[in-house]
Amino acid sequence: MPATRSAPEDFADLLAANQTFSESFALSGFDGIARAGVAIVTCMDSRIDPLGMLGLKPGDAKTFRNPGGRITTAALEALVLGVHLLEVERILVIPHTRCAMGSATEDEFRAKVGASAGQDASWQGFHVVHDQLDALRQDIAAVRTHPLIADRAKVGGFVYDVDTGLLDQKF
Ligand SMILES: [Zn+2]
Repeated sequence: MPATRSAPEDFADLLAANQTFSESFALSGFDGIARAGVAIVTCMDSRIDPLGMLGLKPGDAKTFRNPGGRITTAALEALVLGVHLLEVERILVIPHTRCAMGSATEDEFRAKVGASAGQDASWQGFHVVHDQLDALRQDIAAVRTHPLIADRAKVGGFVYDVDTGLLDQKF
């Protein structure tokens, strides 16, 4: 597929909304630190409003999202930057109830994606979750024992309930 610019109509509705957004934009000149000293790692799930669930607003927190809200190499990279350069003092790792990443095995995801794509997807990795609490325990340990993060930030593990909006602290 050529890396040319997409057709103007592909994103026209979103760009029109962006024009409206820009008319009342109030963050001009704002720096990129985490004003509330908070970093959030959570799932890409569209039911989750990471800032809203914590009473935060744009500018308050660094947010890193991926399928499942897992502590991956890229998530650790973001947290190291957050702790040392962006004034992060508290880290919340937040997987959630009814997460799709816990609904199938990696092979099942590969089969589903392969069927959708009409081609082999067996080479694509997915961070599936077999046991959410155990995965969260391991993820929290990975953050707390990271040599560039340990002792520099408080780290908490939570599960977000997508049906009540409540957080339950597990670790
Ligand atoms: Zn999810």
